[in-house]
Amino acid sequence: MGASNQISIWSPFWVTLGRGLRHVALPSLCHFCEDILQPDENHFCMACQLKLPTAMENQCIQCGAEIGPNLDSNQGCVHCNQGELPLKKVISLGAYKGLMEQAIRKIKFLQHEGLAECLGIQLGERIKKTRLSPDLVAPIPQHWRRWLQRGYNQAETIGRMVARVLRIPMVSWAIMKKVATLPQRGLPSTRRKANLKGCFAVHPKAPVRGKHILLVDDVLTTGSTCTEAFRELLRSGAAEVSAGVLARATGGNI
Ligand SMILES: [Zn+2]
Ligand SMILES: [Zn+2]
Repeated sequence: MGASNQISIWSPFWVTLGRGLRHVALPSLCHFCEDILQPDENHFCMACQLKLPTAMENQCIQCGAEIGPNLDSNQGCVHCNQGELPLKKVISLGAYKGLMEQAIRKIKFLQHEGLAECLGIQLGERIKKTRLSPDLVAPIPQHWRRWLQRGYNQAETIGRMVARVLRIPMVSWAIMKKVATLPQRGLPSTRRKANLKGCFAVHPKAPVRGKHILLVDDVLTTGSTCTEAFRELLRSGAAEVSAGVLARATGGNI
């Protein structure tokens, strides 16, 4: 009896102290400016939240690249070779610059998986507002060796959140990376295609036949990666392929 009284007196104290110490030891910091977050802020402080990109004002309707005002993109734009990117649509949270560029550099590391999740939810909400209605999410895979180095595949984390918002399944194993390739970053666009040739395969049991597949990745630059995955998906009977990415980059600088 005495022991249980002791517990009831002491446990709230320890719980409160524990929570207090945890807060002192590990305050939640803004992913961008590293200011301490207020209790009602999640991942980003209010100031950084306001700086996050909103939908680009002038965007190619085919490939999602930022284009000049008054340009007609019905036939694509210079960034997708006048619509040669074979995807039905590319949807992104914004251009690869500023805070979005910093965020994408961070989420390559496991300790920032929370940031990838948060941005994945925002991407899901953005896609939900469009008329695109994909049937399933397929993240762009990493070779297992890269996965071991980083501890996770950020495209899969983003894809999981997009699938959750859109209430569609994610099939993380639909596309497999057969061979390790050089990082696309830094390669000239002419070498990007060759670097990826034959690197993906669609799992024979992946339920892609007749379906509209949403490829998910962190960033789309020339579109070579998504185009290579598109080819394999089409060979396996997919009806349509779109892409959802956090950022749309143009130019070969990443
Ligand atoms: Zn901040
Ligand atoms: Zn375009």
